[in-house]
Amino acid sequence: MNDKILSDLGEALVSGSLTDSELRARTGTMPGRQILPEANVIKIGGQSFIDRGRSAVYPLLDEIKQNLPQHKMIIGTGAGTRARHAYSVGVELGMPTGVLSVLGTFVSMQNARMLHYLLADQGIPFIEPIQFAQLPLYLAERQAVIFFGMPPYTFWQPNPKIGRLPPNRTDTGSWLISETFGARSMIYIKDEDGLYTADPKKDKHAKFINNITVAELKAMDLPDLVVEHSVLDMMENAEHRRSIQIINGLVPGNLTRALNGEPVGTIISAD
Ligand code: ADP
Ligand code: MG
Repeated sequence: MNDKILSDLGEALVSGSLTDSELRARTGTMPGRQILPEANVIKIGGQSFIDRGRSAVYPLLDEIKQNLPQHKMIIGTGAGTRARHAYSVGVELGMPTGVLSVLGTFVSMQNARMLHYLLADQGIPFIEPIQFAQLPLYLAERQAVIFFGMPPYTFWQPNPKIGRLPPNRTDTGSWLISETFGARSMIYIKDEDGLYTADPKKDKHAKFINNITVAELKAMDLPDLVVEHSVLDMMENAEHRRSIQIINGLVPGNLTRALNGEPVGTIISAD
């Protein structure tokens, strides 16, 4: 009988240095566990969607309700125009990235709170980061939860490569939830059909891209993107969430099609 208390990896980790590259590589050899493989993570855009008010939000929430019997959903919210205003005042007053991150968090929370009350008849809870431990229970009981998409880095938000805006915002916070829980999907709901070669609001010759890899997209070096750059960076190291889907939530039925696994919108993949 093997009376060793620790596995080989356990012994190596206990006695070795956590900065040793060979040792770190060994921790990736165990197959990772998908904790919530049936849950879909959906991010509802702030500026691109929620800020459009009732005419955009009400039909989408109806479509979410229609899909509740078939699909589990972890719904994150963007921040949007009010956060941009807060960032502009904060930047002018000399606030660091970590403080700007706190400001953005509260705006995305405002949006989550409002959507949560609009879904009150479904008994869907609003959860803060500390309540994510109850996520499996809530999904089992109610099929969906609402959270604010901003990752809770707050003051610990790293500085961006350029400028001072928090680089990890609500697209990234939502993606991280999908990756961590090994969810079934990561669907971004915005106001355009997906990714184009340029912002279609500014360039009417922008061409739609329905399928692209992260490497191809980075090589194109587009001046602007439909998702945060951090999402693409993080996807390169993803264990589970190696593709994302961007759909136009203003088109009725798009969310249902995406939840059913149809290739509506743009799919960006790390492979
Ligand atoms: P959110 O509301 O989720 O934060 P954003 O407003 O940050 O979304 O990003 C979505 C917007 O990005 C779209 O409304 C579109 O106008 C703009 N955009 C910029 N570049 C692109 C691009 N290359 N393809 C598509 N949309 C783009
Ligand atoms: Mg955004």
